[in-house]
Amino acid sequence: MQKFFKDLNAIEQFTTTLKSTPSLQCHYCLKHEHFISHGFVYKQHSTTCREAVGKRIICCNRYGHQGCGRTYQLDISRKLPKRHYSGAVLFAFISLLILGRSVCNAYIQATKQAQTRHAWRWLKQLKVNLMNYRGYLKVPIPVETADRMKHFKHHQLVLTTLTAMLFAVKGCPCAAFQFTQQIAFI
Ligand SMILES: [Zn+2]
Repeated sequence: MQKFFKDLNAIEQFTTTLKSTPSLQCHYCLKHEHFISHGFVYKQHSTTCREAVGKRIICCNRYGHQGCGRTYQLDISRKLPKRHYSGAVLFAFISLLILGRSVCNAYIQATKQAQTRHAWRWLKQLKVNLMNYRGYLKVPIPVETADRMKHFKHHQLVLTTLTAMLFAVKGCPCAAFQFTQQIAFI
């Protein structure tokens, strides 16, 4: 099932056609025709400002449905699932690393936070997902690009790949990756 969508309108279009899409199957109970819309997912920007960033649908087990009750979350592709920051902030962090900033300095500049412990978690997760990024790029990394980034030492592989992604994609690569591959960027 599609998880990442271009925008909220695309999610709404998808959820309004749940009843007329009998081919849609639940991964858990394998049943069809029991999905119903289950409300918006919001990101709270401040005490007075929240933004709809996704929707939930449920494989319904009530109101005459015989589904399993599991909930699925549908996200707009610029949102990183289960993360506080958007793909744009993460890519600011990545861009600053590519420009040669230290891991902590890049995190502080991108997030405007003084605490940097998550910076290392981000970097670790980017490395874990390296093969997914390579799979997305499909073409090999040019030797010149890899050579230019030798000074990154331990981070060379991941930063070379992310640099190639930056040049290959229009706009935020995190959003483009999530929309195309239908998996979370980190
Ligand atoms: Zn189900």
